[in-house]
Amino acid sequence: MASDMKIGVVGAAGRMGRMLVRQVCEHPSCALAGATERPDSGALGEDAGSLAGIGEIGIAIGGDAAEMIAGVDTVIDFTAPDATVAHAELAAQAGAAIVIGTTGLTDAHMETLRRAARHVPIIVAPNMSAGVTLLLALVEQVARILDDSFDIEVVEMHHRHKVDAPSGTALGLGRAAAAGRNVDLDAVARMAREGHTGARPRGEIGFATLRGGDVVGDHTVVFAGEGERIELTHKAASRQVFAAGAVRAALWTKGRKPGLYSMRDVLGLAV
Ligand code: NAD
Repeated sequence: MASDMKIGVVGAAGRMGRMLVRQVCEHPSCALAGATERPDSGALGEDAGSLAGIGEIGIAIGGDAAEMIAGVDTVIDFTAPDATVAHAELAAQAGAAIVIGTTGLTDAHMETLRRAARHVPIIVAPNMSAGVTLLLALVEQVARILDDSFDIEVVEMHHRHKVDAPSGTALGLGRAAAAGRNVDLDAVARMAREGHTGARPRGEIGFATLRGGDVVGDHTVVFAGEGERIELTHKAASRQVFAAGAVRAALWTKGRKPGLYSMRDVLGLAV
């Protein structure tokens, strides 16, 4: 339909890319307007729908992101950090919004995204699921209520193919806990422990990373006090929840002012 939001998916042959193609095609308010991959990808020229398991849709996977982005309302990007910032710059030039699920973004990447967000709406979220977005808000709230006699540990497990650790979501949960305590995560984070580490310093926020099998994404935030413990857990059973969140975010950008937004903005949970 003419009023449908035209969405482009970059990295369309990836695990998330294929989920996104499917989700966009099946959503009643949006239409897939283009799909791209790396210029050296073996998937170039293949039908995006066939690759996504929904049958032919007549959209071949292309290698020219600039051309594709110029013809869409919103881009969805779950690729790799350097590719993502390049796509965001193209989106800013073309006046297209961009929804970014890529994790492992450095401060330098974020700085480029902030510049691009002066021109178009950009949503960045290391986890697009509604459940994790709510968990982030809950963790911040619990950390605000409990004092630092409660030790905070973030535990995550993902499938064996994941390349970054701890997960972007785990770091986001750590940042939410630190924000609740009014401290800077970098100043209190302990990313790993090995050997004779000594007693746990008060106020530390610890991380533990597990990798294996086909685990889509498990996260637990432990608040461990003397004699009692609170554990907040989210388990994703399918990547579909991330794709559904990304499409919801894409639709939310319609008519939105330029700026850098998060999924908490999309769900109305931002403080
Ligand atoms: P994947 O390796 O299966 O897919 C990434 C795809 O991006 C690949 O097909 C690759 O060829 C493509 N790509 C790389 N550079 C490109 C470029 N310049 N142009 C076009 N395509 C390019 O990985 P995945 O499991 O789909 O995850 C992708 C990213 O999304 C990771 O950073 C992952 O951590 C993140 N992720 C985020 C969420 C979330 O909810 N935010 C959920 C799952 C995964």
